[in-house]
Amino acid sequence: MKKIGFIGLGTMGMPMAKNILNKGYELYIYDVRPDLEETDLVKGGAVTCDSPKSVSEKTDVTILMLPNSSIVEEVVLGSDGVLEGMESGKVLVDMSTILPKVTQKVAVSVEGIGADMIDAPVGKTSEHAITGTLTIMAGGKKEVLEEVREILETMGNPDEIFHCGPVGNGGTMKLVNNYLASLIVNANSEALILGRKAGLDLETMLPVLLSTGAKNGHLENTFPAKAFSGDFSPGFTVDLAHKDLNLAMDLAKNYDYPLFLGGMTNDLYKLVKNNGNGKEDWTGLIKIYEEITNVQARRLAD
Ligand code: NAD
Repeated sequence: MKKIGFIGLGTMGMPMAKNILNKGYELYIYDVRPDLEETDLVKGGAVTCDSPKSVSEKTDVTILMLPNSSIVEEVVLGSDGVLEGMESGKVLVDMSTILPKVTQKVAVSVEGIGADMIDAPVGKTSEHAITGTLTIMAGGKKEVLEEVREILETMGNPDEIFHCGPVGNGGTMKLVNNYLASLIVNANSEALILGRKAGLDLETMLPVLLSTGAKNGHLENTFPAKAFSGDFSPGFTVDLAHKDLNLAMDLAKNYDYPLFLGGMTNDLYKLVKNNGNGKEDWTGLIKIYEEITNVQARRLAD
């Protein structure tokens, strides 16, 4: 069985690492969080390391689940970084959501010493990280993906591990996915509040919208679980939605491609953050429309 390293044990990384450990893999971990030693993961047998280099030295496959591009760059290429412990035959799997051009830069260094890298960012939420049912969008050599597929299957739904092309394409796919999802959350909010303002209740609108081409997953699942119940505790936070939207806009700039809808949605998320609601669920975007109109989209029973 391969030895696994895991760096970045936050909201997503912690449950993902637990799922790896629970499948019987030897697990070596690193994070800057001060309470790492007290976590259930360590009590369950994961071994803490004192640097990213020490993780990759001890393991065959090193997985990253870090907040952003600059931290990934620092953790891999910086002093005592992952790269210093890599060698031919080892694999780096970056599951963070970052800019594809940073992924490609890191991959050049990793491949330069004869090791391999795939990017494999994830779709869905921390709930799916806990149940091991994430969607995984992978970029890199197909044979390297096959080599680590069994490990990815401890974290993701086996039918939803997609090969998207060369390294960096996993991240590109993730940004396209989250870009579209952010626009859908915005469009749902605006349209529903139009209906509410004009005298329709949710109980009338939902069955109709879910029976036509207007149907979408967020209208069917995310909004009923969150905004319609008045529950704005995060599944997926406004801060992360805004971060991913900015990454998509940065990606588009590389191609001089104007994202018309994205610009407006980005401003709205910025407004939600400025209102102090960045840690709330992203369906909280609907509150902007609710404030303008003085009507709410909540279930009648609530
Ligand atoms: P998080 O902030 O909860 O966790 C990040 C972890 O990285 C923290 O434990 C932090 O201490 C650690 N870290 C930061 N700097 C470090 C360093 N230099 N060295 C080692 N560890 C360091 O973030 P998260 O919500 O788990 O998200 C991780 C990634 O997954 C992000 O790229 C995010 O966009 C993506 N993502 C998140 C979700 C979600 O619902 N939370 C869903 C899909 C994808």
